[in-house]
Amino acid sequence: MDQILIHACCAHCLGKLLAGLAAEPVARAPVVFWGNPNIHPLIEWRRRLKAVKMLVERARLPLIADETYGLVDFCRAVHGHEAAPARCARCYALRLGRAAQVARENGCRSFTTTLVTSTHQDHGLIRAAGEAAAAAEGVEFLYRDWRAAEADADLVKMLYHQQYCGCIFSEYDRFKDTSTHLWPAP
Ligand code: SF4
Repeated sequence: MDQILIHACCAHCLGKLLAGLAAEPVARAPVVFWGNPNIHPLIEWRRRLKAVKMLVERARLPLIADETYGLVDFCRAVHGHEAAPARCARCYALRLGRAAQVARENGCRSFTTTLVTSTHQDHGLIRAAGEAAAAAEGVEFLYRDWRAAEADADLVKMLYHQQYCGCIFSEYDRFKDTSTHLWPAP
């Protein structure tokens, strides 16, 4: 059976993607890949990685994890393009370029990303970045619109669920208009 590398950004999106993949007419063996220099700050990055590890263990899947906290790589990639959607296009290219490379290095004929399960992401930009990365590495990018896929509740129960996309810009956008405090306001 062909292997497919799954670039995973978080546990809940990975659960959705696995459900979508399981419903495909062609069976592929999943290999999960963690490589997300866009997630900040460090504690948030650790929380999401831990949740992905827990899900992978429950699902008994192989995991390739790049455990380098890639803040500098991300900042270099988006420097001068800090406003969305240009920032996000570069963020997708950074992550999917690495995923395509890891897919080729590990003998996976294709790769995909949990980004395609999100209603908050730009699917046109994801698809363009994935196909460009695939062409550069000689592998296939599997694009599917899995926004409506539903994760197996047992796989994702009790796992950390983030409140913003990942980068510090998205954290600001998420909370700037809220009154969220670390402690109750006086
Ligand atoms: S908002 Fe999300 S997709 Fe866009 S640059 Fe930040 S982490 Fe990447």
